Amino acid sequence: MNILLTGGTGYIGSHTAVVLANAGHSVVLLDNFCNSNQSVSARINQITNQTLVCIEGDVRDTDLLINTLKKFKTEAVVHFAGLKAVGESAQEPLSYFDNNVAGSISLLEAMKKTNVRTIVFSSSATVYGKPQYLPYDEVHPLNPINPYGRTKLQVEEILQDVAKSDYSWRIALLRYFNPVGAHVSGMIGEDPRGTPNNLMPYIMRVAAGALPHLNIFGDDYDTRDGTGERDYIHVMDLAEGHLAALNYLTQHSGCEIFNLGTGIPVSVLELIHEFEVASQGTIPTEVVARRAGDLPIYFASANKAKSLMDWSAKRDLTDICKSSWNWQKFRGSLDD
Ligand code: NAD
Ligand code: UDP
Repeated sequence: MNILLTGGTGYIGSHTAVVLANAGHSVVLLDNFCNSNQSVSARINQITNQTLVCIEGDVRDTDLLINTLKKFKTEAVVHFAGLKAVGESAQEPLSYFDNNVAGSISLLEAMKKTNVRTIVFSSSATVYGKPQYLPYDEVHPLNPINPYGRTKLQVEEILQDVAKSDYSWRIALLRYFNPVGAHVSGMIGEDPRGTPNNLMPYIMRVAAGALPHLNIFGDDYDTRDGTGERDYIHVMDLAEGHLAALNYLTQHSGCEIFNLGTGIPVSVLELIHEFEVASQGTIPTEVVARRAGDLPIYFASANKAKSLMDWSAKRDLTDICKSSWNWQKFRGSLDD
């Protein structure tokens, strides 16, 4: 299949590009590089031993999308492009709604005009909000508590209406839990600009000596060890979830929602411990106040993805931490 990946040089896009290209698909990447580096596509090429087309462009440029979809005879789109920093979304909500919601509408307009009717969308567990029960399943009530989450929910709603308007659409909404880890080569991985907000990239910077210690945001939650618990999913498992979704859509029209998680909650202390083992080092920590807006615990029910797409996460916390540390070492050797 000819597949366009918007945001294809980002963290999840780059790993999905590797999985799709290795599965025999013809992959085109489109990215405005606002949160990624141009050199990522060369590294994807090295990993896959293929030459993927990489286009610099913005998803809000509908004409560029129309031309790209036509030129590469695109049959399906995986839509990763968007902004994802929760804190920034509260400070810059317009920019988030513009990139994430207007960007998605622009893409859907272009797809409609070129008769491309298959799309996999990057949604997030953030759409659920405060858990009313756990694990979250796909029918759990939705109540995102920040602008970023609301952009994801709005795009989900738009896509559901689009699917209802015309039965030829084939749409998968993938709600990711906490993506972590890197490709086994160590050549691609998460590469946040500036000081990381998320736990794993922060741990990696501390392990590399670039930051002095990790702040643990609260150890007095009602959880197993008092620290927050999350469902950390290896990015390669997540990438394979996109391949499974595309395969599913070849057989099904309409719009279907899938959680992509492991179903296993892991605490901050457990992740730190696993990382120390993998990196054979020590992560200095300091317990500080809870971070505003943090939930104590959430994790996925991944049963639907297993039963409908035959997908489940295969990699464990050791794979996650080893691959993250490999990538951190490789990243330090890059001069871009
Ligand atoms: P990322 O920032 O690494 O990748 C997103 C890519 O999109 C970047 O390369 C960026 O340059 C590009 N981009 C942003 N706006 C664009 C635009 N208007 N036009 C073209 N390109 C644009 O993020 P990621 O972690 O790979 O996330 C991919 C998607 O998954 C995002 O939509 C994100 O909201 C969603 N998601 C991520 C997580 C996570 O924790 N990483 C969790 C749930 C959902
Ligand atoms: N966390 C932490 N220190 C950090 C970053 C995160 O203790 O520097 C904790 C956070 O409170 C949460 C967990 O790690 O319990 C995961 O946080 P992250 O930001 O990675 O994911 P999210 O909260 O968005 O699920």
